[in-house]
Amino acid sequence: MGKTGKIDVLGLGTWRIGGGEKPYYSDDELYIKSLRKAFELGYRLIDTAEYYADGHTEELIGQALKGFSRRDFFITSKVWPNHLHYDDVIKAAERSLKRLQTDYIDLYLIHWPNPEVPIEETMSALERLVDDGRVRFIGVSNFSASQLQEAIAATRKHEIVANQVRYSVVDKKAEVELLPFARKNHVRVIAYSPLERGRLELPLLRELASKYGRTENQIALNYLICKEAVPIPKATKEEHLIENLGAVGWRLDEGDVDRLSRAK
Ligand code: NAP
Repeated sequence: MGKTGKIDVLGLGTWRIGGGEKPYYSDDELYIKSLRKAFELGYRLIDTAEYYADGHTEELIGQALKGFSRRDFFITSKVWPNHLHYDDVIKAAERSLKRLQTDYIDLYLIHWPNPEVPIEETMSALERLVDDGRVRFIGVSNFSASQLQEAIAATRKHEIVANQVRYSVVDKKAEVELLPFARKNHVRVIAYSPLERGRLELPLLRELASKYGRTENQIALNYLICKEAVPIPKATKEEHLIENLGAVGWRLDEGDVDRLSRAK
């Protein structure tokens, strides 16, 4: 990731853990239990955002991390587009740190572009957070190749290491322009909704699942890994958490990756 950093090949999404746009507190214990189960199973790359459950998802992650070693984890959070002015970025990051009960965020992303705020202003706040040790790496999310190019041009000393975008074996728009551009610029693509929110449908997946003795979801996630993207499936059910980990440690043949690339 970037010219120097490393990132796991698979992560854990957390959207809808602890609520959607608003917090939902009634299932806190269940969510903490499922996050801790994920950590026990070995998930270390955790994706969240200030937007998720209006901050409550970050709170649950902070609570679930108790007893685990923070340094073993790689936590990604994101600043919402209404907080992209300089001071607002700093304050948003401080609130996220507090909720996560940590003194640094590993990767901090602009959640969505906001054309009303000059990208230079936001990037300079993100760089300030890196200089202060409150963030290790910076990046963006939902940026097109040209928006990413502008963001890269707006940095002064720290590189943009990641762009998190919607990308699955069914929705391959990212492959047209973004993936080649990102690769050339040492920007890692992080793939969100990699399982199409549990509604993955592509006939070729069934054929390949039987060929490799894997599940369709594992084939779909492995495809993204073969494309050098980092999928971050969200799962709360233990069987889903386990199944998704089975996407790692093996590889589809190149020919099958090409077939999936062309499959509609
Ligand atoms: P997703 O990961 O494609 O799908 C999550 C859904 O699939 C959940 O309902 C989950 O169920 C189910 N699931 C997980 N593993 C499964 C399996 N092996 N078999 C069957 N069902 C399975 O969708 P997503 O949550 O939209 O995306 C993943 C993460 O990306 C988010 O959680 C979030 O962290 C991030 N994201 C970022 C953005 C952005 O703008 N940057 C936008 C959307 C998402 P259970 O929970 O019941 O296990």
